[in-house]
Amino acid sequence: MTHLTVSIMVLDLDAALDAARRAKAVGADLVEYRIDRFTDDRDAVVELLRRSPLPCILTCRPTWEGGDYDGDDADRISLLEYAGTSAHPPAYLDIELAAYQRSANLRQKVGLVVDHPGQVRPIDTGLILSSHDFSGRPADLLRRAADMADAPACRVIKLAWAARSLRDNIEAFEIIRQQVKPTIALCMGEHGLPSRVLAKKFGALLTFAALETGAETAPGQPSIKQLKTLYRWDRLDADTRVYGVIGHPVGHSLSPPIHNAGFDAVGYNGVYLPMSIPPEYEHFKATVAEWLACAPLHFHGASVTIPHKQNLLRFVEEQGGEIEPLASTIGAANTLAVRDDGSLYASNTDYAAALDAVCEGLNIAREELAGKRVAVIGAGGAARAIVAGFAHYGATVVIYNRTRDKADELVAAFNGKTGKVVAASPDKLCGACCGVFINCTPLGMHPHVGATPMPDPPDWGPGTVVFDTIYNPLETRLLREAKAAGCHTISGAEMFVRQAATQFESWTQQAAPLDVFRGVIRQHLSQ
Ligand code: NAP
Repeated sequence: MTHLTVSIMVLDLDAALDAARRAKAVGADLVEYRIDRFTDDRDAVVELLRRSPLPCILTCRPTWEGGDYDGDDADRISLLEYAGTSAHPPAYLDIELAAYQRSANLRQKVGLVVDHPGQVRPIDTGLILSSHDFSGRPADLLRRAADMADAPACRVIKLAWAARSLRDNIEAFEIIRQQVKPTIALCMGEHGLPSRVLAKKFGALLTFAALETGAETAPGQPSIKQLKTLYRWDRLDADTRVYGVIGHPVGHSLSPPIHNAGFDAVGYNGVYLPMSIPPEYEHFKATVAEWLACAPLHFHGASVTIPHKQNLLRFVEEQGGEIEPLASTIGAANTLAVRDDGSLYASNTDYAAALDAVCEGLNIAREELAGKRVAVIGAGGAARAIVAGFAHYGATVVIYNRTRDKADELVAAFNGKTGKVVAASPDKLCGACCGVFINCTPLGMHPHVGATPMPDPPDWGPGTVVFDTIYNPLETRLLREAKAAGCHTISGAEMFVRQAATQFESWTQQAAPLDVFRGVIRQHLSQ
């Protein structure tokens, strides 16, 4: 069993007990009392242990190991000894490996209060030997693990280090899997989230959670609510399939709440994580290859966003995987799926999402787009996928972009393949030139909600469809004005939901719960 452990920085007895009670109420089964700054009153520490609503780890972390205790080490150990020999000792006592190795006197004192082969009285308290490095992976990480494993009194090995990249998590998983003793291996910082969420999948002794956002006791610690509700803690097991959104940055992506809620809704054994990878291809390749190579991780796919959409194509091509033909034509893919035989498939679900949202608005099948006139405003990444998709189905696409050269590039790439693609000056944009208008610029996006790519609301023709790829806000100024003029409007949220749904279906082989996805978007964008 992997304990969901809330770490509490103790400053006040009643406040700490209240935090422990709240931790228990929201599902923690272990607490860690960090008494780094609560060392003046020994009896208050004993009282804390006596009244604790959950089994606990007692930790007094010195400043030299990243904690807040800056007093004398002998006093610290004497306090831990006092608490450990009380009538209600902690379930675990955490002592730094460095301190333990440094001092025979400390080892002897700790030996009086923890369970070990030579003990003279029955003791339940287990010793956690721990090592923390806040600057990166220590060169002797594996030596430290071996020393902990060799120490007869050590019941639990704990290694925590600052992850330099997502790749560090793989080593944490391997350490947990290989150790002969219960192990905690956690990576700190933004890149370390997988090690914290997936600790249960790999059978670690515990993971740490903050009681609430802002109460973290280490960098990158998620809140217990995030672990339980966003990252599906209760559902995780050794077989859980892992997915993620690869981008840079990805901190505010809506994809983790959407896909995790989707997995929940259909009862799929998966979890979806943010995966920040620096822009260069070498980083993308090294990280994705290492995640794929770690068989027990069950890394089965990813959403891929800026700046990695081209990197995904290159990677899948190099690995001998299959690429959706239109993704190749577009030159960008946003979905990686790992098939059951381990082969890779890259596809682009953006263009299909836009096509289907518009076709539904027009009440036609994709094939009936032939000959329809579609105005695309903008010529960046989103426009490229959309132009390619509509042109592929025979539509006539008119690109209106501030920088003419970029529009001309799209014309050169896609004109004549099936449909017709032309470029026009933005000042020629009017309500009658096309039956479908698609904004692919950020004009109108939060926080600049007063902006619009069509500042003089045109005289839209009857039955016009106006689609804004922006999803924050859900209704942009462009859509508001188009709706007031009687147009059929489509929000970027619909495109986002549909591209996510196609990804979800390619991973799970199950229909995506669209209403759940829409609900998550509404909830997040209304906050
Ligand atoms: P991009 O590659 O940076 O392209 C942005 C385009 O907008 C460029 O053509 C740029 O013109 C134009 N533009 C930017 N600022 C402008 C301004 N002030 N006035 C006129 N034109 C301006 O961005 P992208 O990835 O294509 O994304 C564009 C939009 O699509 C974003 O709002 C994004 O939220 C949305 N999007 C939505 C989804 C979805 O699922 N709903 C998916 C992807 C993207 P220049 O060429 O002249 O620079």
